[in-house]
Amino acid sequence: MKKKNTVLLLGITSILILISVQVFIIIGVWNQKSEMFSLRYTLRSQEAMGFIRRRLPSDGFDTVRLLLGSYSEKANRQIHAIKDSKELVSVKKDVFDYFTKVINQEQYLSTLLSAYFDRRGYEKNFKYTIVINNLEMIANDTIVVYHNDNFPYRRPSDRGSLPVTQMVTQNKIVVTWFNEEDNNYRCNFDYFIDFSDKQKMILKETSASLGLSSLSIILVGVMFMITFRNLMEEKRLSNLKTDFINNMTHELKTPLSTITVAGKTLEMVQIRTNEEKILETAKLIGKQSVHLNQLINMILEISMWERTQFQLDKRTVDIEEFMSDVVESFKSGGGNGALITQKYKFTGTKVDLDDVYFTTLVNNLLSNAVKYSDKKSEIDIEGFTSENKICIAFTDNGIGINKNDQKHIFDKFYRASTGNIHKFKGLGLGLYYVKKIAEAHGGDVTVSSRPGRGSTFTVTIPNI
Ligand code: ADP
Repeated sequence: MKKKNTVLLLGITSILILISVQVFIIIGVWNQKSEMFSLRYTLRSQEAMGFIRRRLPSDGFDTVRLLLGSYSEKANRQIHAIKDSKELVSVKKDVFDYFTKVINQEQYLSTLLSAYFDRRGYEKNFKYTIVINNLEMIANDTIVVYHNDNFPYRRPSDRGSLPVTQMVTQNKIVVTWFNEEDNNYRCNFDYFIDFSDKQKMILKETSASLGLSSLSIILVGVMFMITFRNLMEEKRLSNLKTDFINNMTHELKTPLSTITVAGKTLEMVQIRTNEEKILETAKLIGKQSVHLNQLINMILEISMWERTQFQLDKRTVDIEEFMSDVVESFKSGGGNGALITQKYKFTGTKVDLDDVYFTTLVNNLLSNAVKYSDKKSEIDIEGFTSENKICIAFTDNGIGINKNDQKHIFDKFYRASTGNIHKFKGLGLGLYYVKKIAEAHGGDVTVSSRPGRGSTFTVTIPNI
């Protein structure tokens, strides 16, 4: 258990480290691609601006200039007449809003830029943002300054010295800046663009490395799970073998010690004169030898099945008659006083079966039903045909089997946890034997059980 937890912990830790490293790398690649994207489009926009300025008659702000020029003249007259400082604040805001509105609505630089990008085969769908940094209204030599508090004012002369990469703020690309001025106003603003499809485009570029790293994580995870499962399976098998050796030693020791004691008894002088005692002891030796022989045969037979195919010697039998005979001989052989009821709906159904093996199958199920019970055993046997199969269900009122054990009870050497302590003797081979025999007949055996309530084993084999 400790080893299992350590392996699990180590595996999970290394996978987590691997995932963190991959995530780290992916974030790095993503940031790099994103930076490269911004840089690329900054250069492309500068190239576009160069083209627009050199080759086109307009930079896209002609209408803006016209409208602002006539507006600021009127606005300055109004500002000049204001005496109240509160009113000035409100007028300042109106002026600033008007400038923002006109610059945004009347510019057509975006159209020029988009057309340029389109011609060059670049991405042409972008959003633009225009931020006014500073606005000064010049009214009769009085300069009224309007700052944009959200954006730190930079003097126009600072602009040229800024490296391109620094212009990239909040994922937006600075395309250009404008200093507009006439006798009435001075205004400078920045023009940004950003691409709504940027993430998608970067994802496309990084998809190969992203896919490969996810695949490598998945592969490592799957490999770890397989290795861990194999390790656990190996451990389970080795535990089963150890349990089997312990159980077998225990099983073989019981008849052997009885035979040893019986032999010693026969040596005693007072017994040798008592014929009745001699007969009784000889019978005991005979019975224990048969039991010992059965155990050894069972082990030998199973090891033989591992090497060769199951050889069945089939003959056609009337299943109802066959079952009644086997159950009767089980009862007469002891059956530990179990109350066995049989209900068959066969009406002369015939099946091909190996009577020796099939008798063993039935006996194993019946003796388990008796063995794994803590009260007087009641066993109901029901038989019926379904499609082209016959089904025989053995229901007992025993201790039942929990869900987890139900998955394994047909495995070789498996004993449910209560069976491993020697309260119930056994080698964990009975049901393995039952399953093998049912399968060799082209059928199967299944179990349904509720702990404390009892179990039902259903054997199905094809009929003819
Ligand atoms: P064994 O009886 O030698 O242990 P089996 O292969 O016959 O081996 O059974 C495997 C396990 O299945 C048993 O250890 C027991 O826990 C459980 N089992 C089998 N039959 C029954 C039953 N009728 N009721 C409850 N438990 C059963």
